[in-house]
Amino acid sequence: MADRTIHLRTCPLCEAMCGLEVHVEDQAVKLIRPDRDDVWSKGYICPKGTALGHLHHDPDRVRAPMVREGEIWKEVTWDEAFERCSELLGDVIARHGKSSVTAYIGNPTAHALSLSRYVGVLIGMAALDCIYSAGTVDQWPKNVSSMLLYGNMWTIPTPDLERTDYMVIMGGNPQASGGSLMACADVLGKLDAIRGRGGKVVVIDPRRTGTADHADEWVPIVPGTDAALLMAIVHVLFADGLVDPTRVHVLVDNVVRVGALAAEWTPERVERACGIGADTIRRLAHELAAAPTSVVYGRIGTCNQEFGTLASWLVDVVNVLTGNFDSVGGLMFAKPVAWALSTLDDPQWADGVSFGRWKSRVGDIPEVLGQVPVGLMAEEMLLGGDEAWRALITVAGNPVISSTNPDRLDEALAGLECMISIDNALNETTRHAHVLLPGLSALEQAHFDDLILNWAVRSTGNYSPAVFAPPEDHPGEWRIFTVLGALLMGVPLADIDVDAFDDGFFSVLCEAKGVDPAAVLPLYDEGGPERLLDLQIRTGEFGDRYGERPDGLTLQSFKDAPHGLDLGPMEPRLDEVLRTANGRVDLAPSYIVADLPRLAARLDRAVDSLLLTSRRHQRSNNSWMHNVRTLVKGKDRCTLLIHPDDATQCGVVDGALARVTSERGSIEVPVEVSDEMMPGVVSLPHGWGHDKPGTRQSVAREHAGVNNNKLADPLAIDPLSNNAAINGIPVEVVPA
Ligand code: SF4
Repeated sequence: MADRTIHLRTCPLCEAMCGLEVHVEDQAVKLIRPDRDDVWSKGYICPKGTALGHLHHDPDRVRAPMVREGEIWKEVTWDEAFERCSELLGDVIARHGKSSVTAYIGNPTAHALSLSRYVGVLIGMAALDCIYSAGTVDQWPKNVSSMLLYGNMWTIPTPDLERTDYMVIMGGNPQASGGSLMACADVLGKLDAIRGRGGKVVVIDPRRTGTADHADEWVPIVPGTDAALLMAIVHVLFADGLVDPTRVHVLVDNVVRVGALAAEWTPERVERACGIGADTIRRLAHELAAAPTSVVYGRIGTCNQEFGTLASWLVDVVNVLTGNFDSVGGLMFAKPVAWALSTLDDPQWADGVSFGRWKSRVGDIPEVLGQVPVGLMAEEMLLGGDEAWRALITVAGNPVISSTNPDRLDEALAGLECMISIDNALNETTRHAHVLLPGLSALEQAHFDDLILNWAVRSTGNYSPAVFAPPEDHPGEWRIFTVLGALLMGVPLADIDVDAFDDGFFSVLCEAKGVDPAAVLPLYDEGGPERLLDLQIRTGEFGDRYGERPDGLTLQSFKDAPHGLDLGPMEPRLDEVLRTANGRVDLAPSYIVADLPRLAARLDRAVDSLLLTSRRHQRSNNSWMHNVRTLVKGKDRCTLLIHPDDATQCGVVDGALARVTSERGSIEVPVEVSDEMMPGVVSLPHGWGHDKPGTRQSVAREHAGVNNNKLADPLAIDPLSNNAAINGIPVEVVPA
């Protein structure tokens, strides 16, 4: 124990932002346990948090830049790697133009100090025609509804679950995810506390999840019908006189129009499609309205489906109508201690929000918030001719596993003329790269959350210094992004001055916040993410504004508080966060309500096959924690969950292989018979299929599993958001 050092840091893996104690001896992590004094998480941790040491020490982790020639990977110096990037990008741009270059941004980008703050630098400098991201297989519908309701796609309201009396969770499973678009440590503990103080928790989900085990009531629902259920709840709220105009927020318009739109959406009309009795729907509406405070929270199941935007919008609508919007115990807006770069006003929307400014190269699909479905990326690479993508930059992502159209993407990536990946893993996607540029491990870099704070249930912040010194020659992700961005601007490699670019970027952000860059630049010895973080804090809600508010916070305030700072719970602040043109909320945006006839048509659809949904597990994090042996050990988790009645009907048995077939494809997977599934719905986990050659993920390969995205049609989307409809795929299940 003599040489043991204990490092406090925040787990960067999910929105729970748990405080950890990392115990280190001889440059090795010996133990990770919860920091019981962390002001935010107070000793909560999940199994993934204990695995950060395994991620850091993983012998498969890419530590040096690599260049691929044919099938052979060779470690090179950073200078050689950037030289190769310059050659490859220069060649593609010379022959096909910059319009042949695109990028894919993966989910971990939102959870790292440097990536989260600088990926926008790459995108902004590069000025690419189109990029793809994991957003369109995740939360794009919520971005669309927030953009239209509140004027910023990342102004996403947060359920005040620490103070509510009644909570409905739709399509979310914080037991596995730790919380998503809702930052709160120990969500299950908070749900138990709601019940403990006499409140009620309801989970609406096709599966009786681990979260449902902490609820008073589980209401199974047919996948893809959340919007229909919510319309019926809205109907009941109006029809039964439960909408109290004095409780509806004064900044909200068009409430009466919403009532008119819901007039024909009776519970009886939707009960067959939703699989929920009309009596239950009426009761839920009455309970939501009668509770002293209540809140509805919708997450990935309400987004990754064909009516994702309608469902995402209606979640907020119900909270508004019950008078639980921007008020304690309801749906509220966080007050982050540091503003996130993505929440800055975007000049492209200065004249109002518009969609469809350009269309996809394949399928003529209108862009939504700058993106088309990620499932189209493969087709737009395989297009041929002048319009095809020839070069791709990926950032912390594995779309060959996590996106729809995976086999076509695998094929398309193999034919690219240039692929550069910023990634710590040689995985199913990055094995196609020509240059692989590793980032730092989570323990080699400081941490302070960025976007996540925008939906935290309390105003909090926690700075974590790096546990291990980074390799001496590693430039850091922010320098990598700046170099690639400059190359895409046409700057010769030898002329790229990263620090000068960074000073310019910092100065622009200073000006956006009303600070004179000439006055503050001399305060810093160096640029990069920590300088930016200091700016975000000092010009944020609680900041010192560089001395104007002497009691305000700076980055140093957090460095002086190793267990974090807690600035209190959310407060009503809609008027401060609204960015709509007229400073009010239009509760019935025409772009969204025009989709109601499509939802109405869904009610008449005959369902004569099983419907497939996806699921997550607490020991997994999309596709990228499967190389940690301590997390994948134990029973196989890549199984088809099926209700006993359906198993009998299909002739499949527990533990045996089943073949699952959709219109798009077919896979074989072990069966797990369980009454946690509602009849008529089966479930596969997301993020598996590690059986491709040429990867360096030895543990993941031993537990390969199958890729559920092979069954999804890449053109099956929610057309309002371009988000994939992964939940609710008709499938046939037979013995394999
Ligand atoms: S819930 Fe788990 S993965 Fe999420 S922050 Fe906490 S320890 Fe990390």
